[in-house]
Amino acid sequence: SGARVRRARNTKLPQYLERGIDVKFSDVAGLGKIREELEEIVKFFTHGEMYRRRGVKIPGGILLCGPPGVGKTLLAKAVAGEAGVNFFSISASQFVEIYVGVGASRVRALYQEARENAPSVVFIDELDAVGRERGLIKGSGGQERDATLNQLLVCLDGFEGKGEVITIASTNRPDILDPALVRPGRFDRKIYIPKPGLIGRIEILKVHARKKPMAPDVDYMAVASMTDGMVGAELANIVEVAAINMMRDARTEITTDDLIQAAQIEERGMLDRKERSPEMWKQVAINEAAMAVVAVNFPDLRNIEFLTIAPRAGRDLGYVRMKMDHVKFKEGMLSRQSLLDHITVQIAPRAADELWYGEHQFSTIWAETADNARSAARTFVLGGLSDKHYGLSDFWVADRINDIDSEALRILHMCYDRAKEILHQNRNLMDAVVDILVEKKSLTKEGFFKLVELHGSLQPMPPSV
Ligand code: ADP
Repeated sequence: SGARVRRARNTKLPQYLERGIDVKFSDVAGLGKIREELEEIVKFFTHGEMYRRRGVKIPGGILLCGPPGVGKTLLAKAVAGEAGVNFFSISASQFVEIYVGVGASRVRALYQEARENAPSVVFIDELDAVGRERGLIKGSGGQERDATLNQLLVCLDGFEGKGEVITIASTNRPDILDPALVRPGRFDRKIYIPKPGLIGRIEILKVHARKKPMAPDVDYMAVASMTDGMVGAELANIVEVAAINMMRDARTEITTDDLIQAAQIEERGMLDRKERSPEMWKQVAINEAAMAVVAVNFPDLRNIEFLTIAPRAGRDLGYVRMKMDHVKFKEGMLSRQSLLDHITVQIAPRAADELWYGEHQFSTIWAETADNARSAARTFVLGGLSDKHYGLSDFWVADRINDIDSEALRILHMCYDRAKEILHQNRNLMDAVVDILVEKKSLTKEGFFKLVELHGSLQPMPPSV
């Protein structure tokens, strides 16, 4: 067990002390090697003398970098919890005050408390709020912030290498920090905490499930595979909301379905419980199924994670969760063929409407994705990807706009025909997916790919443009 916690010597109650931190490394999941690095920090407290005797330098500060909710605060608390030392915390936004001198005096008070109650961890959340490069903000606000930052530097230097007070700070923007902050002896250790991967998400869900009455057969993989991109904070929330769901139904165990419903609430908001006619359910099911059935034919888009036709208040009527596609699309990493595939997927609901309802089309449910397809077709042409080469410069020439539009239209038509062809070939798969969606309102990744295996006839046919 860790170093003894000394009692406060002064009678004034410490303002920044968080009492009763009992977080342990076992509460932080999915971090692999990162955890080992922090376990070393714990040793600076518990075996500080040994390090000093051997001349190993103890870092003054550790910078945890990463997006919100990945567990930076939790990790800092775990360091204090494992080492058995006091934990002082402040959000750097609290340093930033209008009145000159207030921020700096808070920093002084924080470190004074930490020293009087050493050994201790000082945790500074959102360091970038105060640690931005100096001189960038003009006026008195900038002066005040600079004074605060200077004070912080003085405090960090005061503890350099002593291992009595170790500062851990978190930031999502290590790139904008003042260079003075990251000099040796200050925040000289940078640890990046990424969003969790599939296995990490399973582990995080399990950590939060530990103290909950989970059904023995809960399928964590199903929940993890529909939550790509989510962070620990969101996954923790999913388990909480699932528990509430269980209580509401007066059940005694949390099921996979509770978790799936909760994941949907986390991502898309509350369920819209408005009445829908059976025909309307089917129409939405055809819309969503068409995108998934076409997408599964394309290498960059086939990572279908979840399908649902349960509407979310004020957001959407239904949805298909596809891993990567949007990310790649936004980052411009789609190849020419992938961009065509993307257009084909987006126009698929419109094609399905024609195939299933023909002349009797009665909704414009596909309008939004058709818009996506239209604008992507334009991007395709303007990017010089079609056989007829137009560039952005042509866009400013009035008589070229018509050419560009008609070329984009040709691409769109071609993709439309391709979507129709694929849907036609996969009628059985479409029917199976639509039936299950109408009956159960959603399909997991595993459920969907089982149907693909049973009914799909996948024959990618790269078109010529
Ligand atoms: P950050 O400081 O990176 O914004 P937090 O540490 O405040 O994130 O995370 C908020 C909550 O989310 C934690 O208290 C915990 O319940 C949960 N959480 C986040 N990351 C993890 C993780 N890796 N393992 C377990 N729980 C996590």
